[in-house]
Amino acid sequence: MNAAPADQIRLLDLQAFDSRLDQLAHKRRTLPEHAEIEKVGADHTALKDLVVAAQAQLGDTTRELTKAEQDVDQVRTRAARNQQRMDSGAVTSPKDLENLQHENASLAKRQSDLEDVVLEVMERLESSQTRVTELTARLEHSSVVLTEAEGRRDAKFAELDTEVDKVKRDREAVAAVIPADLMKVYLRLREQQGGVGAARLYQRRCEGCRTEFSITEFNAIKAEPTDKVLRCENCGRILVRTGESGV
Ligand SMILES: [Zn+2]
Repeated sequence: MNAAPADQIRLLDLQAFDSRLDQLAHKRRTLPEHAEIEKVGADHTALKDLVVAAQAQLGDTTRELTKAEQDVDQVRTRAARNQQRMDSGAVTSPKDLENLQHENASLAKRQSDLEDVVLEVMERLESSQTRVTELTARLEHSSVVLTEAEGRRDAKFAELDTEVDKVKRDREAVAAVIPADLMKVYLRLREQQGGVGAARLYQRRCEGCRTEFSITEFNAIKAEPTDKVLRCENCGRILVRTGESGV
């Protein structure tokens, strides 16, 4: 294949732009923020679940307290009604009076037990509320950390994308003037050779694979017409001679 030396040299510019685009894409994929966001995001999800569970527990305990207080009220109401009947003088039978007094004594004991239950539930309610408050604060904090990390990632994305756009425009300008057949070979080699399709010949070396040519090989390269598209015998990449190649 033949191509004007200037077009061969343009291939090196194109290669530089393509390598830069590869680097930028790699950088975009491997930003430290990705791992950070993943970790903080997982923590955030776990905290969300904990908050939901703690709120459910708080709801249960609140209902439990209401029930315990109602139990106390019932006993208290019943005792008050008994007391009222006794005080009213409506109950005249000594046996009935005795029964009522006996019942109120039992109710007083029962009320005391139920009030202990209320206190115990109130204590649990308090720690349940504390847990919800603490977990909610932690969730809010993790939310802030997550948003902040996403913000940093997006800022870096924007920065990288701006550079990608610029490099792409520059690349297009060069690609537009490179002959189609040369371009085709370059693209195929770039795909096969880890992103590098064209390499400079410099100090008797192929800069693609770093192979140093022997004097004999180098002399053979020198003897080739300048518009012949050379290929590195070792890596197969397009070997481009420039003013600094010493040929
Ligand atoms: Zn090579």
